[in-house]
Amino acid sequence: MKIAVPKEIKNHEYRVALTPTGARELVGRGHSVSVQATAGEGAGFSDSDYEVAGAQVEANVDALWKSAELILKVKEPQAEEVARLTANQTLFTYLHLAAEEKLTQGLMASGATCIAYETITDAKGGLPLLAPMSTVAGRMAVQAGAHSLEKAQGGSGVLLPGVPGVAPGKVTVIGGGVVGENAARMALGLGAEVTILDKSIARLEVLDDRYQGRIKTVYSTADALDQAAKESDMIVGAILIPGAAAPKLITRAMLADMKPGSVLVDVAIDQGGCFETSKPTTHAEPTYIVDGIVHYCVANMPGAVARTSTLGLTNATLPFVLALADKGWQQALKDDPHFLPGLNVHNGQVTYQAVADAFGLES
Ligand code: NAD
Repeated sequence: MKIAVPKEIKNHEYRVALTPTGARELVGRGHSVSVQATAGEGAGFSDSDYEVAGAQVEANVDALWKSAELILKVKEPQAEEVARLTANQTLFTYLHLAAEEKLTQGLMASGATCIAYETITDAKGGLPLLAPMSTVAGRMAVQAGAHSLEKAQGGSGVLLPGVPGVAPGKVTVIGGGVVGENAARMALGLGAEVTILDKSIARLEVLDDRYQGRIKTVYSTADALDQAAKESDMIVGAILIPGAAAPKLITRAMLADMKPGSVLVDVAIDQGGCFETSKPTTHAEPTYIVDGIVHYCVANMPGAVARTSTLGLTNATLPFVLALADKGWQQALKDDPHFLPGLNVHNGQVTYQAVADAFGLES
């Protein structure tokens, strides 16, 4: 199969959809791989790395798209990319269509087969192509929050591990899923005192069992949130209610009860945020202060660590890419009930119920 890997053109997107390692796997199975010149640069892969792996490096974007049967990307296609898609092509990438009606219409009009990373499932009921990026964001959250606690950033001047004779800082993580557990692990590793709040008893049981009391687990109630606001040096917002905007769990009024210079890291900002005073920020200016509390609310955290994010993402996508290339999309999806929900648009129709419902379309 002819596979193309365009350079990502979304603002500040440095990841690439296929590494030289992935290219080598595909070429070894008899497929042809074209990678746009400098596509891997932001993630630390040179054109010659791809050439050594057996891929062709293509400087002509038109030629790259035109010759492809399967197109691998990271972010949803931008308008000029949608315009290049044709009916005989398969696109495999993050799409997040439910919030993007114009993009959905464009993909329908292209006639292409569009498979989304984020709607592929696994046997445990998880989303295996979203999890690696949640892992990155969770781990980064504590790194970013610890930096924000420094005086020069407007923080309280607390060092999370403390020092001998000085108590460690307190970190509360709201939501103990993939982001939350990874944030808690990082905070624990730094020596902070860590508490996770969650609404799911089953999830709290798993965490309690896994960390054997080294991380405190607390059922999330209004009282627990009040106490967290009063005591914490850092609160990480890591909740997800699938298909719904995040509820505002820390209100503006509660900021007055927090210690001045404490830090709120709202990882759930891409779902609207779970603190009332959150608003999306960028890596260029990641924090702002409200009522003396430092807010970190970057909506695309994994973009800052493009090398690790690319490697984590492509490890997860590669088995699906190989199946698409070896079998063609129809057989690959037919053979794997967890791959099938990835199909979002085919032959001018939306094929994923939640996206069709979002825009009142037939699926
Ligand atoms: P997840 O489904 O694995 O975990 C979410 C957890 O939140 C679950 O355990 C759930 O029980 C819990 N929860 C739901 N409502 C709650 C409430 N009211 N109080 C306490 N706990 C509650 O989801 P995840 O993959 O960990 O993602 C968490 C959030 O991080 C999502 O909003 C996701 O979109 C976001 N995210 C953001 C970035 C970024 O760059 N900012 C990157 C990755 C993920």
